[in-house]
Amino acid sequence: MSDLIADLLVLYEDDLLAPERCGFVVDDKIVEVKNMCHEPADGFDISGEDLMKYEDVVTASWHTHTGTDCNLTRDDLVSFLNYPHLQHYIVGSDGVACYVVEQGRVLRAATYPPSRRAEEHSSGDP
Ligand SMILES: [Zn+2]
Repeated sequence: MSDLIADLLVLYEDDLLAPERCGFVVDDKIVEVKNMCHEPADGFDISGEDLMKYEDVVTASWHTHTGTDCNLTRDDLVSFLNYPHLQHYIVGSDGVACYVVEQGRVLRAATYPPSRRAEEHSSGDP
């Protein structure tokens, strides 16, 4: 696992119930910016100021999901499609997923740690 993924996982571990956190990856380092979303527990928005500040150097975006897995939401899908040249990491309760945009579609390129919970869907929780 790369240092970047480990760093992302640490961000989430500290903050299981906190509002979503978000930012960019610049030079394989995590840069956190303010989540401007009006419901920050439920989504993320990055200010235009921060977008402009980093747009020339950023290689990926990242954000955390509060108390849920790293599947993308509908809002995530829309925002990822707006930045098809970036990779997009979602840090969730089950790990980190890396999404890429190919030919107008968002694909999950990788998940870390890989297949840790193969039995996840068989438990039948109430
Ligand atoms: Zn999300």
